[in-house]
Amino acid sequence: MELTQSYTALPGTFYKHVLPTPVADPQLVIWNDTLAKELQFNEEPMSYTDLLAGNETGSLHPIAQAYAGHQFGNFTMLGDGRALLLGETITSEGTTLDIQLKGSGRTPFSRGGDGRAALGPMLREYVISEAMHHLKIPTTRSLAVVYSGEGIQRETVKPGAVLTRVAKSHLRVGTFQYASQFGSKEDLQALADYTLNHLQLPTNPAPYESLLHHVISKQAELLAKWQLVGFVHGVMNTDNMAISGETIDYGPCAFLDTYNPATVFSSIDQQGRYAYGNQPGIAGWNLARFAESLVPLLADTQERAIEIAQNQLDQYPVLFQQAYNKGLVAKIGGEEEDQEALRLATEFLKLMEKHQADFTLTFRALTLEDTHDRFFQQQDVNEWLTKWEHHTSSQSAEQRAARMKQVNPALIPRNHLVQQALDEAEQEGVMEKVIALLEVLENPYAYSEQQLQLEQLPPHNGGPFVTYCGT
Ligand code: AMP
Ligand code: MG
Ligand code: MG
Repeated sequence: MELTQSYTALPGTFYKHVLPTPVADPQLVIWNDTLAKELQFNEEPMSYTDLLAGNETGSLHPIAQAYAGHQFGNFTMLGDGRALLLGETITSEGTTLDIQLKGSGRTPFSRGGDGRAALGPMLREYVISEAMHHLKIPTTRSLAVVYSGEGIQRETVKPGAVLTRVAKSHLRVGTFQYASQFGSKEDLQALADYTLNHLQLPTNPAPYESLLHHVISKQAELLAKWQLVGFVHGVMNTDNMAISGETIDYGPCAFLDTYNPATVFSSIDQQGRYAYGNQPGIAGWNLARFAESLVPLLADTQERAIEIAQNQLDQYPVLFQQAYNKGLVAKIGGEEEDQEALRLATEFLKLMEKHQADFTLTFRALTLEDTHDRFFQQQDVNEWLTKWEHHTSSQSAEQRAARMKQVNPALIPRNHLVQQALDEAEQEGVMEKVIALLEVLENPYAYSEQQLQLEQLPPHNGGPFVTYCGT
């Protein structure tokens, strides 16, 4: 395993060299063996503890990346305030991936923060990002979590930790906003050229329009995938939207239980700006900020540049809807482009909303034709089932189920299950539940006995699930 650093070829305004702040007593608490092999981390896991705690960086030259962003709609300067890019590695398949430490200490971008991260939230990012990967959703990944042996001050004192995050790139919409707002046109162009080259994007016929198009189409696909599994990101600020199209920055994210487009989990999202049903529109808003930042590069005149940007942005809702409709139809076993199946699937969502049905379990029950549940006994749902049976009757029940199993997960990282596992890890230092959960989340489309028996419905005490901007 050898790490290189390509980002430092950019003008100095884009990064600061920073060394991690060593921690007291690092202990490796979780290690992603499969990913480690892909990344060619071939030694004993424990031999990486000091590196991944930030205690021993040897000849590496870590950097904190500069970026800005709109947070809940307000533009501000940000940057890696508690993360450092150690470098890039090349996978066994020839892809270049960033290796980043999160929670590794203060940087010049830390503002008031301590540069640290708590064990619970870092394990949460590990579990959910890995679950997303296995759900076949583009995402940053997690290689390891190291407990720091230190307490950090939050509402109470919490165990500290460092997460090793792996991504195609940590470039964000906010990185371009930073260049466009605070840099020269040359800086912006250098960033765009770096991105095209680093992500190996096509540069024809016009490189920067191609960049814009690529980012728009990747986000359209990503948002469709989020919606189709009921993922609520929770903080879709422009600094948390990756240019690579990977899901990034797992803070207060959570999965839908009952289907309701207005669902919000995050305690800080009082207005519901980032509610489940708003996500596709918010991504469009973020992409408009990205397009604006590229305007100086898109054409010789501003008028023409804005026209190009607008043409590209107009494609976003179309691309999103195409991807979403295709996926939604597949969830009820329909054929692509089948308008009647799309109508049926949309009606099914409306029924789920009306009867407050669980999003994942209802599609799973439909896949298994297990219609014992109260929801399926409702008269309107029963009528829907008859129409659905009839409409999909050109396939055998087995064929239909086999196709539906490929797109309807048997399980997702259910909020209360994740929480129980994390509580045990954080409060008792016991990792068993986290590890067991990760194991079943590795094959979400397997429909194994073990998965089907896992009690997924949240216990009926207490109010709705709330996530805190876990730090
Ligand atoms: P996030 O909400 O995770 O997207 O982070 C927003 C900004 O706050 C980024 O610039 C982070 O680096 C910074 N930040 C978050 N937590 C801390 C912390 N504990 N110390 C320093 N900076 C932080
Ligand atoms: Mg962030
Ligand atoms: Mg963050």
